[in-house]
Amino acid sequence: MNKQNTHVAVIGGGCAGLSAAAALVEQGIQVTLFEASSQLGGRARTVAVENNSLMHLLDNGQHILLGAYHETLSLLKKVGIKEQDAILRLPLQINMQTVFANSAFSLKSASYLPAPLNLLVGLLFSNGLSFSERIAAIKLMYKLRRTQYQLSKDIPLVQFLLFNDQTEKLTEMLWEPLCLAALNTPIEIASTRIFLNVLKDSFSGNKRNSDLLLPRQDLSQIISHPVANYIRANGRTIMLNRRVRRLVEVPNGFNLETKDGVQFFSHVIIAVSPVRVEKLVVELPKLKRVWEQTQAYAFQPIYTIYLQYPQDIQLPSVISGLNGMTGQWIFDRGQLCGQKGLIAVIISATGLHQKMGQDALALTVAQELHHAYPMLPKPLWHKVIAEKRATFSCTSDLARPTNKTAQPGLFIAGDYTYADYPATIEGAVRSGIRCAKLLLNS
Ligand SMILES: Cc1cc2nc3c(=O)[nH]c(=O)nc-3n(C[C@H](O)[C@H](O)[C@H](O)COP(=O)(O)OP(=O)(O)OC[C@H]3O[C@@H](n4cnc5c(N)ncnc54)[C@H](O)[C@@H]3O)c2cc1C
Repeated sequence: MNKQNTHVAVIGGGCAGLSAAAALVEQGIQVTLFEASSQLGGRARTVAVENNSLMHLLDNGQHILLGAYHETLSLLKKVGIKEQDAILRLPLQINMQTVFANSAFSLKSASYLPAPLNLLVGLLFSNGLSFSERIAAIKLMYKLRRTQYQLSKDIPLVQFLLFNDQTEKLTEMLWEPLCLAALNTPIEIASTRIFLNVLKDSFSGNKRNSDLLLPRQDLSQIISHPVANYIRANGRTIMLNRRVRRLVEVPNGFNLETKDGVQFFSHVIIAVSPVRVEKLVVELPKLKRVWEQTQAYAFQPIYTIYLQYPQDIQLPSVISGLNGMTGQWIFDRGQLCGQKGLIAVIISATGLHQKMGQDALALTVAQELHHAYPMLPKPLWHKVIAEKRATFSCTSDLARPTNKTAQPGLFIAGDYTYADYPATIEGAVRSGIRCAKLLLNS
C-alpha cells in the first residue's frame, strides 16, 4: 500500500468506524469519516431529553463494559481519557434483588485472589444457591478452563447448561442474567461458543478482566467526542449529516456519493449496522455474500427505563440484578455519574414488555421497584428509550462476514463482523482496528 496515494473513506461514526479511523490516523493515513446522523456514537451515544422545559442528557442505553475490553480501554487511553475519571471499576459482583425486598442470590468475586480462583471462591461462598448447585457451577467453570472454553459444536446455551448439570435456579440466578448482559439474546437461542468466548476473556488471564466497568460520564463524553477530537486534531475530516448514498467501484478505488456530490477514495471501510449494509453494497457484485449474510440477521431490543426520583434518593448499590421482575438490571445514576435520584433499569432481549405502552411499562417497573426498595416513592418523571434493533441476535452458528471482503480495497467493520464476540462496544472496536490493520497490510 502506498501511503501517499491512499485516502480512506470510513462510512459510519459508531464505535467501529471511529476506532478504524483513529487507528488509520495514528499511522498517518488520510481519512474522511462520513456519519449519516447529526451526532457520532451510533448505538452508544447520549441523547438530550426534555422534561418540563429542562434538558437531561441520557445515554441511549446504560452500557456495561468488562475489564476484558482491552481494545476499548487502549483506544480510550490513546485519545486521552483517564480510566479513573471516566469509568467506575468494580470487581465482579452480582446481587439479585427480589420484589420482596430481599436478595435471592449474591456473588462477589474474591478480588484478592488470581483468576479464576477469584470466581471459584466467589461461587463457593455465594448466597442463595444450595451447596450442590454451587459445586455444579464450580465444576462447570473448572471443565471450561480444562477445555480452554472450546466447543466441538455450537449449541444453544440452554442445552449446554442442561448437559452440564446446571439446575433451573442456577441458570436463572447466574447464567441467564450473564448471557442477557453479554449477548442480549435469550438463552434458548444464544450461542454457547460466543458466551464461552466472553467467559474466557473475563476469567482467564488477569483477575481484573472480570471487573465490571461502568461509565461515570455520559457515553458520548467518554467515547465518541474524545475519539473524534483525536481524529480532528490530527487534521482529518469528520462529516456529520452525510449519509453515503451510493458506492461504486472505479479504477484504483471507489466513487462515493453523498448529498454534496461524488468523491473518489482509494479504500473504503463500511462501518454501518447490518441493516444499512444492503444499500451500500448493492452495486458491488463481489459483495453479494456479505449482502446475503446481513439479510439473514435477526435483532434483539434493549429497553432502558429512566426513572427520576427526588435527588436524595439513593440505592444500596450502584448496580443490582432484578429477580422475578420486568426489569433485569438497575443502576443508580446518582452514585455513578452525579445524576442524583436518577435510576436506569435495563430490559434486554425480546419479552412481554414489548407489548406494553411506554408509560405503562415505566409504571409497572416503578411499582415493582417500590416493592423491592420500599424507600422509593413515585417517580417525578420517566423516559423509556426503546432501541428495537439494539444488537444482532447472537444465535448459535451464525454466519458472520469477515472484515476482509472479496472486493479489493474494501473492508467491513461493525460489532456484527467480529466473529468471536457478541454485539458489544469491544466487538465493534476490535473490528475497526482489524480493518485498519488489514488495510495497512494490503
Ligand atoms: C440500548 C443499548 C445497550 C447496549 N448495551 C451494551 C453494553 O452494555 N455493553 C456493550 O459493550 N455494548 C452494548 N450495546 C451494544 C453496543 O452499543 C454496540 O455493539 C456498538 O455501539 C455498535 O457499534 P458499531 O460501530 O458496530 O455500529 P453502530 O453504533 O450502529 O454505528 C453505525 C453508524 O453508521 C451510521 N450510518 C449508517 N448508515 C450510514 C450511511 N449510509 N452513511 C453514513 N453513516 C451511516 C449510523 O448512523 C451509525 O452512527 C448496547 C447497545 C444498545 C443499543
